[in-house]
Amino acid sequence: MTSHDEPRADELLTSWHARQRRSRRGRTLPEPKAVRNRKGDWRHPDIHPTKAWLRATAESLDVPAIRLVQHSLAKQYPALPLDFLVWQHPPCPTEYAGLTPAPRLGVSWCSRCLAEDFATGQPAHIRHQWVMAASGFCHRHRWPLEDRCNACGSQKWRFAAPARGPLRMICGSCWQPLERAAAPTLDAEKDIRACWDQMIAFEQQLINAIKGRMPDQFRFNFTSASQLLNEVRDVCNLLTRGPLTDDYWVCKTRNIALNDFVCDAMTPGYVGRQFYSIEAVNPLTTASPVLRRCLLAAACGIIDPNPRISTALFGSEAPPAIEIFVAGVDHSVVDHFLAATGRWSPPFIQEIQTARQCRARRATLGRLKANVSALNRVFAEVQV
Ligand SMILES: [Zn+2]
Ligand SMILES: [Zn+2]
Repeated sequence: MTSHDEPRADELLTSWHARQRRSRRGRTLPEPKAVRNRKGDWRHPDIHPTKAWLRATAESLDVPAIRLVQHSLAKQYPALPLDFLVWQHPPCPTEYAGLTPAPRLGVSWCSRCLAEDFATGQPAHIRHQWVMAASGFCHRHRWPLEDRCNACGSQKWRFAAPARGPLRMICGSCWQPLERAAAPTLDAEKDIRACWDQMIAFEQQLINAIKGRMPDQFRFNFTSASQLLNEVRDVCNLLTRGPLTDDYWVCKTRNIALNDFVCDAMTPGYVGRQFYSIEAVNPLTTASPVLRRCLLAAACGIIDPNPRISTALFGSEAPPAIEIFVAGVDHSVVDHFLAATGRWSPPFIQEIQTARQCRARRATLGRLKANVSALNRVFAEVQV
């Protein structure tokens, strides 16, 4: 058995299976499918492959089933909540069965990883990190992930086996290989790398939390892994909510708190990019890599208690991210989250309350200053 017959260390099972199908043309292999179990819960082949598929695949491809189980996402990331994966079609509850397509993961890619695979003669493959909602960057190459062809903008991709050389990932529309990095990213890289590194360090904390590991307590004091994920989920939810309206027809709007956080380093090639409102418990679940980066940058500035992070991401002119957050989001929803016992960590709750007090103090000072200047004007008029 060659090493290419086994899944790579960080490879999705479906990616490995697709590669095997390509290299064994004409040979039928059991297709990995998402199926519902008896309770009505979905079992996705990359997360919880079924025993039947594992047995049949292990037999057909002569790979021990236990090796395949070790590559499943549930095994590698034991604390992975399903909404911290990117879904093209998210798993839907049983009551909508038949109306919705089977769950399908949304794949982004790192052009640097693909270029490296090609240069070293390795087959292209889908890494676990490319389907994680908690990452907008490749941590290996410190490079933004993409989900569109840089030549034609299509989101379709496929594996292609050229006559010579390793398997490659190509655009499904224009057939260009996806190894080429986006020109605007290459142009902007030098100036914004420091911001990327801040975000990569934050994403690594989230990936560790998904693995069930305690976050760095020097950075996130008294915060458990699940509390850090709750905070990111809730902050992203609050940032993308449209304003409350009495209108029956709720339209998508750009009037959302996320657009108060401008970090052009997350959107190379675009300046001041704006986003529309999203109705989802966790908007990261279906977000494009660009939106994921912007959401995670805002969440990082808000949740990380170190004020230098907020300054590094949003500039020294901008107020602290947590103050922009409490000013821009729905207070009643924040109160609801604050009241839920153990949902957020005590230091984060304290930060929110301090930011609210600072804001209230600043508003009172503003009102006083306005009154003083109005009085001064009146006195000036009387003296005249
Ligand atoms: Zn990479
Ligand atoms: Zn294309």
